Amino acid sequence: MAYTADKRMELCNTAMALAEQNLFGTSNDGLCIQCGSIQGGCEPDARKHKCEDCNEYAVYGAEEAVMVLGLC
Ligand SMILES: [Zn+2]
Repeated sequence: MAYTADKRMELCNTAMALAEQNLFGTSNDGLCIQCGSIQGGCEPDARKHKCEDCNEYAVYGAEEAVMVLGLC
């Protein structure tokens, strides 16, 4: 996977924000690290779930996404 620095930063910020929300139990969203789409009803430790937008198996639970993206 190759991202531009901007894209990676954007995904990372989204993942961090989602992880924070999930921590407070207000949502349970995952993030597609291919297209950046937010997918609801995703377990926090989900990995490689199918994205409903781009059909790639690239949806990760928020905290997993933060880790996979290598942190900001
Ligand atoms: Zn996607």
